[in-house]
Amino acid sequence: MLILTKIADLRAFITIAKDSGKTIGFVPTMGALHQGHISLLSYSKQLCDLSICSVFVNPTQFNDPKDLERYPRMPEKDARLLEDNGCDVLFLPAVEEMYPDGPLKESFNFGHLDKILEGAHRPGHFNGVAQVVKRFFEIVTPDKAFFGSKDYQQVMVVKALIQQLQLPIELMACPILREPDGLAMSSRNALLTKEERKLAGLIPGMMQQAAQLATEQGIAAAKACVAEQVSQHELMKLDYYEICDADTLEILNDLPKGKKAVALIALFTGRIRLIDNLAVSS
Ligand code: AMP
Repeated sequence: MLILTKIADLRAFITIAKDSGKTIGFVPTMGALHQGHISLLSYSKQLCDLSICSVFVNPTQFNDPKDLERYPRMPEKDARLLEDNGCDVLFLPAVEEMYPDGPLKESFNFGHLDKILEGAHRPGHFNGVAQVVKRFFEIVTPDKAFFGSKDYQQVMVVKALIQQLQLPIELMACPILREPDGLAMSSRNALLTKEERKLAGLIPGMMQQAAQLATEQGIAAAKACVAEQVSQHELMKLDYYEICDADTLEILNDLPKGKKAVALIALFTGRIRLIDNLAVSS
């Protein structure tokens, strides 16, 4: 596996690869890699000739400086894991390499998509995501880009970005990988204390129960169930739980038949903010 830190070196590699007809799969990450990330790499390896993973903790998508500061960083371990799993190139740029003129000023408009849920609770987050993803797409020029459905809203924002910029990139939304107790894998899980980790393990069960309630009794019942369960634990604090149209992310008050819906949650367990989502049947 090549480890590259300079855009010029990566571009040189990609130009040669493309000239010899190779297709490129791209997996952008912020590192502290786990099997969820590796599953994206596996899809890329199945579908593309060459797989490039980036590890870059993008400062412009953090609205909370403390969150940025404590975000786990372990580039050597990440490199080993990627190498062991057949990654071709690890792109590991410094902040100055990505933003040589300081943070980008570019701002995007994704309609309601970036203003609700994560967008409402983390102002500027999706603008930062769109900035860095656009920059990466311009550098890597992948044929396919692999994103996890764990960040459901992010997938929709990136889809909108690709459409707005008319990029010839196929967005592949990959399934959520979970721990044995159902907790969605996340780099942030490593920051949980033992007690918090145990509590976080309740989230998937809560989501299942609420989804069933939504189907049987309606969305208000599902919301009440989640609010009630979260309130039972002092260490937990709910940011939001909403059920949305799975295709448009419009927030729903009732479940229309025949429409695909998804429940999305964000909550704090101790200091650590976790997100998850689950399909809801009507
Ligand atoms: P992150 O490093 O958290 O920015 O994540 C990088 C990519 O990995 C994003 O597309 C995430 O959605 C994806 N990802 C994170 N956790 C998981 C998971 N548990 N299962 C599948 N994909 C994931």
